[in-house]
Amino acid sequence: MAAGGAPANVAVALARLGTASGFLGKVGNDFFGLHLKAVLEESGVDTSYMQLDKSTNTGLAFVSWDERGDASYLFYRNPSADTMLKPSEISRDYIQQARVLQFGSLLLANEPASAATYHALRLAGDAGVFLSYDLNLRLFAWPDEETARSVVSVPLAFAHILKINQHELEWLTGLSDPLAGTDLLWTSNLALIVVTLGGEGCFYRTADFNGRVGSFPVEVKDTIGAGDGFMAGLLDGLRRGNFDFDDEAMIRQACRQATAVGAISTTRPGGIPSFPNRAEVDQLLATINREV
Ligand code: ADP
Repeated sequence: MAAGGAPANVAVALARLGTASGFLGKVGNDFFGLHLKAVLEESGVDTSYMQLDKSTNTGLAFVSWDERGDASYLFYRNPSADTMLKPSEISRDYIQQARVLQFGSLLLANEPASAATYHALRLAGDAGVFLSYDLNLRLFAWPDEETARSVVSVPLAFAHILKINQHELEWLTGLSDPLAGTDLLWTSNLALIVVTLGGEGCFYRTADFNGRVGSFPVEVKDTIGAGDGFMAGLLDGLRRGNFDFDDEAMIRQACRQATAVGAISTTRPGGIPSFPNRAEVDQLLATINREV
């Protein structure tokens, strides 16, 4: 049994890096849901507004590996408690205390969770909280690809930070080249897009500049959670750089830290257990001296 779920993974990875985080979402009031809550609490994530649903089970994912080591997933979530999050369960006061609201596209596939997500995004936007969108495409949740493409594109109009991997970029735009693909996605509201490139690191762009940051050479065991670790490394770096999106050196440093967290996470099995603490990340950043 392994606790996970993209936004929860990001919250845990942030706490390990020394950035305070809290989880807004819903699990079933059952053995698995209570386990997820306990893991978040042990990891230092605030769960004050984590909801427990009495009538719906916690969603489960079964992961299996073929002889080449490639993972396949089987999801038991039809419906699952996460999709039952209601707008009335989102606290305005809590959201207003944050610097960033991190969200993904999965909850946009079902009601009432989609309405709850948009409610949270509106409250955050009104309070000047940065909205950070990890596209994190999960096609199993959608009736068809066209519906998925149109619905997951909506938050691009108001998100400030977008993280997307290269496969998702190609799926969304038809272009795998990060510069050309993100040209199509760019909106005036965005401050930063980061495209993750697996073992090649990442590409970043703002309104004024773009570039690439390489990854770290590591012995990969399991890539589960790498993207979530990356996301946390990026947000922690941006927070330490005071979200100054005009400062390219700061953005590069945040991307470099993000690739360090992603790389370390691939050397260990699982998601949550694989995320490094501050000291491990600082050590990797210090030992591999590369130009940033
Ligand atoms: P996702 O997990 O969202 O699909 P990627 O596969 O692009 O995203 O990986 C996210 C990040 O994890 C990369 O930007 C990189 O920093 C790190 N990473 C992934 N695969 C490797 C690898 N083979 N070697 C080193 N770092 C990796």
